[in-house]
Amino acid sequence: MNKRILIVEDEKKTAALLSSALQESGYLAESCGNGTVALELIMRNPYDAVIMDVMLPGRDGLSVVRQLRERNHSVPVLMLSARGEMSERIEGLEAGADDYLPKPFGVAEVLARLKALTRRGGDSKAMLLEVADLRMEVASHLVSRGGQRILLAPQEFRLLECLMRHAPEVCPRSLLLSEAWG
Ligand code: CA
Repeated sequence: MNKRILIVEDEKKTAALLSSALQESGYLAESCGNGTVALELIMRNPYDAVIMDVMLPGRDGLSVVRQLRERNHSVPVLMLSARGEMSERIEGLEAGADDYLPKPFGVAEVLARLKALTRRGGDSKAMLLEVADLRMEVASHLVSRGGQRILLAPQEFRLLECLMRHAPEVCPRSLLLSEAWG
């Protein structure tokens, strides 16, 4: 099955460039130039990933991603922005984007990131876990709290993953033993 991607970008040239590059690589690409419309589309359609510009008419890209995550929607999002500074990158990731690419970007780089994101999304288990301000990206082993990166040993990571997957329920010892220690 071809992966279905939504391109949210109001600059027609960029959207057309991305759309044709994606189609050549075997994706089903759809485009949308408005953040408010994009949010509706994403809530209604099972996209495998979303490429999202930050500056958009309607709702901006950061706000769209925040809304998705607040509704526990875990579609992978690759954020694009003309503003490539570190603070913007962090803002994008904190809003709930999975990856961030500053403009101008190369099409090859977009395709490479998209491939990584859709591979993660293909797993049936949730690959992005969030409990309050604690956030875990399972595939990349990235854990952060309130945007601050936390370094964990592999065993600590598996234990936390188990707790987060079952939150807010209490995990009995037997479950922790089987899931975190095998
Ligand atoms: Ca734009």
